[in-house]
Amino acid sequence: MAEKKFQLPRGTQDIYGEDISYWQKMEEIIRQQCELYGYKEIRTPIFEHTEVFVGDNDSSDMVNKEMYTFKDKGQRDLSLRPEGTKGVIRSFVENKMYGYVDMPVKLYYLGPMFRYDRPGKGRYRQFYQFGIEAIGTKSPLLDVETIALGYSITKEMGIKDVVILINSLGDYESRSNYTKALKQYFKPYLKLLCSDCKRRYEQNPLRMLDCKVDRNLPCFADAPKCRDFLNEESKQYFNLVLKGLDDLNIPYRVDDNLVRGLDYYSNTVYEAIPKDDDGQQATVFAGGQYDGLVESFGGGKLPGVGFGMGMERMIALARKQNSLTVKEEKIDVYVISLGDVETYSCKIVELLRNNGIKTEMDYQKRSLKAQFKSADRYKAKVIIIVGENEFNNNIVQLKDTVNKTQEDVEFKELIKKVKSMV
Ligand code: ATP
Ligand code: MG
Repeated sequence: MAEKKFQLPRGTQDIYGEDISYWQKMEEIIRQQCELYGYKEIRTPIFEHTEVFVGDNDSSDMVNKEMYTFKDKGQRDLSLRPEGTKGVIRSFVENKMYGYVDMPVKLYYLGPMFRYDRPGKGRYRQFYQFGIEAIGTKSPLLDVETIALGYSITKEMGIKDVVILINSLGDYESRSNYTKALKQYFKPYLKLLCSDCKRRYEQNPLRMLDCKVDRNLPCFADAPKCRDFLNEESKQYFNLVLKGLDDLNIPYRVDDNLVRGLDYYSNTVYEAIPKDDDGQQATVFAGGQYDGLVESFGGGKLPGVGFGMGMERMIALARKQNSLTVKEEKIDVYVISLGDVETYSCKIVELLRNNGIKTEMDYQKRSLKAQFKSADRYKAKVIIIVGENEFNNNIVQLKDTVNKTQEDVEFKELIKKVKSMV
């Protein structure tokens, strides 16, 4: 479809005005919570060598159909990152973070991701993800901690009624037994399945359960269940995760068909959805454990666990539930200038700003009335009026817009006075 030259590319958006306050508030909450839970920020490049994202025989739609891949002028094969985990793991291994004394290494990232997805509600081609990874330690407690962090961010955003769908794919042994059983089961139905599922059948049969096209076919209802293939160890591990969630009062539901969209998960997998979700694309954060990923980047056999959170969806939910209060836009001081006193006004404005006081001024010698109107629109707490007389006597006129008082203040007393008012 032809796009007009000066229009947004399909599936992208400009974020500005009132919306930006929600984004900033959310980022503030994320950073605060990560600090509390001990996750440190990492910033990796927005593009990487394509191989970083493409694993051996990867069956995910994200890698097979949704990547923005291009050659740069040096003929390097690069891709815009479709998710955060792979870049973080690449960096973890490249920077030898596995040498740290204190495992797990706990990292978070936040930034735009790119997928050639079909745009729609809560679905973009450039979208923002916040995510965490805890690398180097395998423990049900750590799985629970990641869920607790995601859940606490939804709570801090004031979002109510989020529930965690959770499942266990089991360890390598359990997972391969289950995979075999699935292949055997689906063999006679293969003709009925969509072309993606035919590919998944060969590459990663588990992913068939995640198919948005086929999953309501009658043959899916009777498919073997993952939980029946968990060995004793995996079963115990999963029970400890569920117990941890019980202990922390985090609401969850075990979902046998939850396998997650990406290929690298093992054991615990989860998705957080709003309780009233109609089953349609409202997952706000999703993740799980990945056992082989660090090793596939040459970093030794180290486990990891983490999630990715869709920031647009979190904000949409917070706005729908009216749950997030953002700061009202207003300033502390508006400086009104009368006559040729701009340099004096500028000096005052800069002084106030350097003292942490939010200040605006008139730049174009407008009328007194127009300047008062601006002060009103900015919701200034204090108005400073500067004219020839004030300039000559090193004073200013100061108006308190709330208490409706007015007085002359000496320049050298100005900061102390204003600070006591705002
Ligand atoms: P789906 O099956 O809905 O396509 P996914 O498996 O591709 O999801 P993940 O890769 O797990 O999704 O991404 C983690 C989170 O990022 C999602 O739960 C969602 O909140 C968000 N997300 C994923 N794709 C998009 C998109 N195209 N636009 C906006 N947010 C997205
Ligand atoms: Mg997807």
